[in-house]
Amino acid sequence: MLEQLKQVEEDALKALQAVHDEASLEAWRVTHLGRSSGLMEVFSKFGQLSKEEKPVVGQRANEVKQALEAAFGARSEEIQQAALKHSLEQEQLDVTLPGRRLPLGRLHPDTQIQRELYRVFGEMGFQVYRSREVESDEYNFQLLNFPVGHPARDMQDTYFIEAEGRGDNPIVMRTHTSPGQIHAMREYSARNPQDPPPVRIVLPGMCYRYEQTDARHETQFDQLEGLAVGPGITFSDLKGTLTDMARRLFGQQARTRFRASFFPFTEPSAEFDIECFLCGGKGCPVCGGGWLEIGGSGMVHPVVLENGGYDPIRYTGFAFGFGIQRIAMLKYGINDIRYFWGNDLRFLEQF
Ligand SMILES: [Zn+2]
Repeated sequence: MLEQLKQVEEDALKALQAVHDEASLEAWRVTHLGRSSGLMEVFSKFGQLSKEEKPVVGQRANEVKQALEAAFGARSEEIQQAALKHSLEQEQLDVTLPGRRLPLGRLHPDTQIQRELYRVFGEMGFQVYRSREVESDEYNFQLLNFPVGHPARDMQDTYFIEAEGRGDNPIVMRTHTSPGQIHAMREYSARNPQDPPPVRIVLPGMCYRYEQTDARHETQFDQLEGLAVGPGITFSDLKGTLTDMARRLFGQQARTRFRASFFPFTEPSAEFDIECFLCGGKGCPVCGGGWLEIGGSGMVHPVVLENGGYDPIRYTGFAFGFGIQRIAMLKYGINDIRYFWGNDLRFLEQF
């Protein structure tokens, strides 16, 4: 019986050395300490022993049981420590990994072009002047020399907000940035009515027209207008300013062309073109004949100067205007103006 106990202990301790994880440790416990283990078999035969054998075998059996339980406890502790060490080494949080980047937006292509134009005109001494998008008929048309019923109004299909009770002066969404010319001149001339200061401003902003929308027409669009008023300003100043603008925007080789035109608020008036920078003036699908139509310009009409508080005998001035989307379309080769306000990220992310 003592031999059997010795063998049970040796077998169990030997088997324990091969145990390296929780699952096999539990299997070892069932085999060597469980109900049908060799040790329990010894205890079950206890009754068959003689009076003299019982204390000796009993003591020895308890020693073996305690030894095996102690070995099991120690092994269990070792396995838990090893598992903890392993997880600390393998599953640690690596704080040196870069975090997840938040997607950053960017400026709308329209805004990018606006800022570039502000920079170009800022370098030439022009200040930015902003005025309202909701105007009266008086400011949008009449003070700019478009009298009530003037046929030139037909060129600017207008959104009327309110007409009732206002007679010939309804509220309108501005069709161009030009009413800002009157606001600016009146503001400047009010500072010193006898000797008004010179004006050199650009007027940016959204304009609204009741257009049939297509690839080249939208019901809302941004314009940038320029106005310079002072003693002795001539048409050559206008040509020089716009040619300089073209060179600053498109490079020193850029050439400009002026074509006689008509606008009620300028006299004389001219459309201005820039030589196509895509084909170098040879002619391509974008430009057709080698020139890109940019906008309108002219010398400020004496009636408009007077409406702004400037004496047309002492003062002259020039004005020009163009669509900002038009410049962006030319610069980036965009073939449909409706992309600008379509809110399509596939378009916007390209700029
Ligand atoms: Zn071209």
